[in-house]
Amino acid sequence: MTQEELFKKLIAHSKEYGYIFLSSEIYDGLGAVYDYGQYGVELKNNIKRYWWDSMVKLHENIVGIDSAIFMHPRIWEASGHVGAFNDPLIDNKDSKKRYRADVLVEDHIAKIEEKIEKEVAKGRKKFGDAFDEAQFRATNPNVLCQVEKAETIRKHLAETLTDNNLDGLKQLILDCEIVCPISGTRNWTDVRQFNLMFSTQMGSVSTDASQIYLRPETAQGIFVNFLNVQKTGRMKVPFGITQIGKAFRNEIVARQFIFRMREFEQMEMQFFVRPGEEMKWYEYWKDARMRWHKSLGLGDDKYRFRNHDKLAHYANAAADIEFNFPFGFKEVEGIHSRTDFDLSNHQKFSGKRLQYFDPETSESYVPYVVETSIGVDRMVLLILSAAYAEEKVQKEGEGERVVLRIPSILAPVKLAVLPLVKKDGLPEKAHIIMNNLKFDFNCQYDEKDSIGKRYRRQDAIGTPFCITIDHQTLHDDMVTIRYRDNMRQERVAISSLPEIINEKVSMRSWLQQLGN
Ligand code: ATP
Repeated sequence: MTQEELFKKLIAHSKEYGYIFLSSEIYDGLGAVYDYGQYGVELKNNIKRYWWDSMVKLHENIVGIDSAIFMHPRIWEASGHVGAFNDPLIDNKDSKKRYRADVLVEDHIAKIEEKIEKEVAKGRKKFGDAFDEAQFRATNPNVLCQVEKAETIRKHLAETLTDNNLDGLKQLILDCEIVCPISGTRNWTDVRQFNLMFSTQMGSVSTDASQIYLRPETAQGIFVNFLNVQKTGRMKVPFGITQIGKAFRNEIVARQFIFRMREFEQMEMQFFVRPGEEMKWYEYWKDARMRWHKSLGLGDDKYRFRNHDKLAHYANAAADIEFNFPFGFKEVEGIHSRTDFDLSNHQKFSGKRLQYFDPETSESYVPYVVETSIGVDRMVLLILSAAYAEEKVQKEGEGERVVLRIPSILAPVKLAVLPLVKKDGLPEKAHIIMNNLKFDFNCQYDEKDSIGKRYRRQDAIGTPFCITIDHQTLHDDMVTIRYRDNMRQERVAISSLPEIINEKVSMRSWLQQLGN
């Protein structure tokens, strides 16, 4: 199965099994807006809980807030979003399709990188066990030529974006001979800037109403509450404030399912530090966040760091954590050293002092900030794409199964309780078991269809444990527990179930391995 096919199947599966629906579907949907179904919301909540606890519970000096989506419009002037939160857009005159100019170039670079990987794969096949990949990459003329090409284009792209050189960006698209994927032509318009913020009116009388924005990031709600939290929480630098909440961006091109949405959710943490110490903390958070990702056990080689070629207006260092999605390595989280840009500007625009008195140095200063910012929806997509598998089944009768190997801590349903038949007191016994377990774990009861079919249904939604109650259970209080990943079955005492399940799904053991 190609990665493209896998992605299509994943989208269909997400809908069929109640994870993700197109918003307003009966009205043919709304561009790049999605709703989460009964399992999607559980997965999302579990991701949020794992992130929140890893920040707030594991760090004495990190606390959370929940600020409003509507904020004073001057905030977005101070943050630079009114002036600079733009993406460069370009239209193809023949297909009338609109693209993000920088993304067109990035996709072009990705194609060159694909060629490099193909060349390496050819070498591996040719030389077999004797293949020295590092040497091949360093010496093969075709590889070297493509690497240089990709680097030159990437450098030009970074320069044009940094200089806001829109003509230069168009020229780069022409020089790379990039064609519109729909029309196949190079008939491009000029590149224009487009502000990504949604705006609306606040106030009942239109003449008095003021223009406000839907927040494009949750971070500003943290900055403007910096002193409130610091004072009321008696926080000492270094300390962090987190928040999880909705953000809105009028993305030019909505693509790749929930990867790029117009309404999405972020989990952000702003860490306030002494000026001059930001690089130490930047490295600390890069490492801590990568450990969090890898703790989910989806494969360490699926992640990489990517340093930003073009720094945002507020940053002095920035890196993305990228994940190997079915459409290639793409950003899931950003770690940014934001300097004192935000707090200093809010100080200027609001006229209020936003300084911290450091009792250790007896100095007042505007703290520097290191931010970690991750999209909840991208995490959902990451988990689903890593978890989805189609397999031939040898046990439990011949056939195939689709299984979601979601890390058990994040699985929407932790266990299914299945009476073997719908009679002879088995459903009653199953309910007794479930009524005990449901206080600790999200359980599902199912008595319809054969046991094999029920296992398949649980595999498809990613339930790590199935508990089967049979006639023998009524005599010995033992049940069959069946494990999702290897389909192994064993007979265990009902009284041991909480311990067996807890070992795999307790937040405590997952958080402990983070080792903060
Ligand atoms: P991109 O380069 O993909 O547009 P970005 O660099 O603008 O992303 P940030 O502003 O750093 O993203 O936002 C932090 C995180 O929020 C991202 O890493 C991503 O996980 C998430 N995010 C940003 N934009 C979107 C979106 N349109 N849909 C879903 N998640 C998003």
